Amino acid sequence: MKIGVLALQGAFIEHIKMLRQLGVEAVEARLPQQLADLDGLIIPGGESTTIGKLAATYGLIEPLRRFAKTKPTWGTCAGMIFLAKDIGIDEQPILGAMDITVDRNAFGRQIDSFETDLPIAGLAGEPFHAVFIRAPVVTAVEPQVDVLGRLADGRIVAVRQGRLLATAFHPELTGDLRLHSYFCAIVELTMA
Ligand code: GLN
Repeated sequence: MKIGVLALQGAFIEHIKMLRQLGVEAVEARLPQQLADLDGLIIPGGESTTIGKLAATYGLIEPLRRFAKTKPTWGTCAGMIFLAKDIGIDEQPILGAMDITVDRNAFGRQIDSFETDLPIAGLAGEPFHAVFIRAPVVTAVEPQVDVLGRLADGRIVAVRQGRLLATAFHPELTGDLRLHSYFCAIVELTMA
């Protein structure tokens, strides 16, 4: 199994470290041709406008769209925004791969970063310690999307649509490998 991490901007190194801790071959992906032999892709957190602009500059938008149509793809934070179908902003390049509506600036200034323990469907054991940094939330999902996690107030922060996964927080910033391992299990299934 070989998983790429989109390495245009943001927290890509941390994702690679997590995957390697799981014994998975993990590589930085920046060019369209580097997607060819990947079994899965993680789009990291960072700044979605920058990731979108750089992806357009490198000719990655269409190749990434095609990739997400057939291969497991996981977006965290800015990566979740980039995967979404609707972010309410027309000018910003996104992949439109997941049938979710995302609000980019969901938490405003006062609590733009926080941590909380989040129960996540499909993860055994204690709640996941989730780090939110200027995080988005999912404001609407189509029926084919499964909600995996909600904040205590009900807002949706983790979703899955078949082989596509999106989390509003940064699982690569904690020592908890469970979500990376969950994603690798999706990759393994699609390879079988
Ligand atoms: N607010 C950022 C954006 O709009 C996302 C922040 C993050 O990825 N930590 O892209």
